[in-house]
Amino acid sequence: MHEGGCLCGRLRYGVRGQPKDVINCHCRFCQRATGGAYLVETLFDKPDLTVIAGSPKVYDHVSEGSGKVIHVHFCPDCGTKLFLTFERFPEIVGVFSGTFDDTNWFERTAETRLHFFLECAQDGTVLPAGEPVYPAHYWQGEGVPSTPQVFDAPVVVDEDVRRAAIAFGKTNRG
Ligand SMILES: [Zn+2]
Ligand SMILES: [Zn+2]
Repeated sequence: MHEGGCLCGRLRYGVRGQPKDVINCHCRFCQRATGGAYLVETLFDKPDLTVIAGSPKVYDHVSEGSGKVIHVHFCPDCGTKLFLTFERFPEIVGVFSGTFDDTNWFERTAETRLHFFLECAQDGTVLPAGEPVYPAHYWQGEGVPSTPQVFDAPVVVDEDVRRAAIAFGKTNRG
């Protein structure tokens, strides 16, 4: 069991097992939700996350991309966002991984980590070599996976990188 919690400490949770995936998501939702450059989101099966203390408040946000609801679970006292559940993917939960007590407990390797939404990544963000980088989401439509780029050397994001990702995404979508 690996535990995490909010800033004020009233809301606590724990997860069982390793994450199914680690997603560095650079989409606008994740930028706004974190106030940072991207969300480090660890995905678990819903039964593998347990709220240990407190009771999160839920904000329902309609995704611009899918039109489906994203449920944002946060602490009503201090406002820290702890995890997401999804109308579109009802069996999984995505943790705001900066809320883990030990933020380095899970592995980040080319096999376990994905990068989403290079199309809107912020200037100066560095993407590692050798890991799958998607121009947008992993899914380009219902049940249709999109193709990632894998870079030979680390990439520092700027306007040209975003433009190339958008162009790559278009060829990818056919
Ligand atoms: Zn709190
Ligand atoms: Zn995102």
